[in-house]
Amino acid sequence: MSAIGSLVFCTDCGNLLDGNTGDATKILICDVCGTSNKDTSSKIVITRSKPSAFPSSLRTKRSEVQTLTEEDVQRDSIIEYPCERCGQKEVRFYTQQLRSADEGTTVFYTCTKCGHKWTQNN
Ligand SMILES: [Zn+2]
Ligand SMILES: [Zn+2]
Repeated sequence: MSAIGSLVFCTDCGNLLDGNTGDATKILICDVCGTSNKDTSSKIVITRSKPSAFPSSLRTKRSEVQTLTEEDVQRDSIIEYPCERCGQKEVRFYTQQLRSADEGTTVFYTCTKCGHKWTQNN
């Protein structure tokens, strides 16, 4: 489907269609080949709004990730707790409150010696 200015052309044969109503939902039937075409004379505006809407949703996703990472670093600390794999007495840990209140808090342990990772639900 192509639109030049306010003119609408048949997608199939390129015939100039009449009836530029500005209504994107209106179907124009080509009188040469019979193909159904939408009236694109108002669609130009819709097409322009799409590129700006897409990156903004990407920006939102990125900022969510950055916020989570900062919280993890702040909560990350070392406690005296035996590693269940190598017996090292100090492990790194941080807690993360899951979104569902029923889930409670999950504690993430990382051994400072062997790197073994495991979680524990409170
Ligand atoms: Zn046509
Ligand atoms: Zn270990």
